[in-house]
Amino acid sequence: MNNATDADSGLIARWRQWPLYGRILGALVIGVLLGLILGKRAAVFELPAKIILQLLGALAPPLILIAVTHVLMTTEIKGKTALRLGSLLILNTVVAICVGLFVANLVQPGRWSQQERPETKLDPKEKLTPAQIVVNNIPKSLLGPLGDNSNVIGVIFIAVAFGIALRQQQDRPVVREVVEAAYQALITVLHWVIDVVPIGVMSIVANIVGTKGFGIFLDLGAFIVAVLLALVLQGCWYMLRIRYFSWCRPLDVLRGMRDSLVMAFSTASSTVTMPVTYACLKDKVGVREESASLGALVGANFNNDGTALYEAMAALFAAQLMGIPLSLNEQLIVMLTSIVASVGAAGIPEAGLVTMTLVFTAVKLPLEYITLLVTVDWFLDRCRTTINVLGDVNVSCLLDGRVKQAELAESGPMAGDSVSGRL
Ligand code: ASP
Repeated sequence: MNNATDADSGLIARWRQWPLYGRILGALVIGVLLGLILGKRAAVFELPAKIILQLLGALAPPLILIAVTHVLMTTEIKGKTALRLGSLLILNTVVAICVGLFVANLVQPGRWSQQERPETKLDPKEKLTPAQIVVNNIPKSLLGPLGDNSNVIGVIFIAVAFGIALRQQQDRPVVREVVEAAYQALITVLHWVIDVVPIGVMSIVANIVGTKGFGIFLDLGAFIVAVLLALVLQGCWYMLRIRYFSWCRPLDVLRGMRDSLVMAFSTASSTVTMPVTYACLKDKVGVREESASLGALVGANFNNDGTALYEAMAALFAAQLMGIPLSLNEQLIVMLTSIVASVGAAGIPEAGLVTMTLVFTAVKLPLEYITLLVTVDWFLDRCRTTINVLGDVNVSCLLDGRVKQAELAESGPMAGDSVSGRL
């Protein structure tokens, strides 16, 4: 009996020694194999996948609330930094959409596709107007957004308001201690949940490969290749910017962010990945807490470059399929609406498909074409989510500046909580 327990704990200890990305990649491979072997029967994995994703997603709103409140309470964020954050976000999104439009015009994926015009109708309830997107993100109640991880922007409103209000109370040690204790408790819970992430990843992948399969990939091959090419180009843009406009080195950043990037690909949710992104940025890449918070917690919710790029490309693809290419003016409308639509997309799987209705409606494209994309979205969503997360990393590195301020990060009150040391 004792021997069995020793063996068990030895296995668990060895499993934990693997870095998180290694565990997730292993889980991905097992998931694909299980999906291929079990086929439709792999649907049984839906339940564990849902439970683990839900647990991780539940941590994002409180983490944003506490980490952003803490940064605002303890750090002097200058108007200049806020302005820089805003301009970085806009620049990255505009570049992403331009890259998407450029590749879609060059490769013309709609011309290569044998796909017939789809007949299914999209649920009209899923159509969103820009006004609805804005209203949906304003908190209806103070605690409401905390219980709903699809309204993370609402949590930011609350965190910013409380962070600024608590600045005036920061001389009272009790206020600081409460915020720090809440932060530490959250990190502990995060580690518990992260331990089961690979099981969640294996379940999601087995379920999807088993029930959806790879067949449709051949019909939409040109579109998939074009999207992947555009996402890679966007990734190169980030790396070049990091190389020349921050102290970080691109390869070190990619190495440090492995856990987070692999997790973004596996979960297709940037919100679920957010706590790990934040931890890796601080502890492995080594940017200041303020830069990690602004880039990965605040900016992340407005910064969905992969989604923006994808939505613009999808509109062009649909128009090409119909044989009515979009004019330059119409492509400009696609660009503007894709910016709004990507900001409105929650960091959850397939959120981009819902806000895409905004882009399609703006240039009068039939919404049925979106249902066609649903068939391959389980894969493309993962790829654009990875770029969404890399975009947050890019913003954090650029905010951190050209000179490393390690000593500042180490002397902070939360220094020493080596969050991702165990990830
Ligand atoms: N899944 C993406 C994310 O979590 C959003 C999207 O559907 O584009 O960032």
